[in-house]
Amino acid sequence: MIFTNKCCRACGKSKALADFYSNGTGYFPSCKECYMGARRAAYRRDPEKAKEQVRRYRARLKAQRLATTPGAPKTPKVSQ
Ligand SMILES: [Zn+2]
Repeated sequence: MIFTNKCCRACGKSKALADFYSNGTGYFPSCKECYMGARRAAYRRDPEKAKEQVRRYRARLKAQRLATTPGAPKTPKVSQ
């Protein structure tokens, strides 16, 4: 088994990739712990903005999934 570590940009600790969130093509620069800490801090600063960012992120993920999932309906099926 290969353990690949990544250095967190926020706390500077070397952690396993499992401790980082994936963004589809790679991993976030900061570990889950730091990412969640940053999210919480952002929420405290501006709850509406933080919620909007999460909404946009989810919408983008959904669009990506639809675009990459084979057999996902791209156009409405016309029944005969
Ligand atoms: Zn960290």
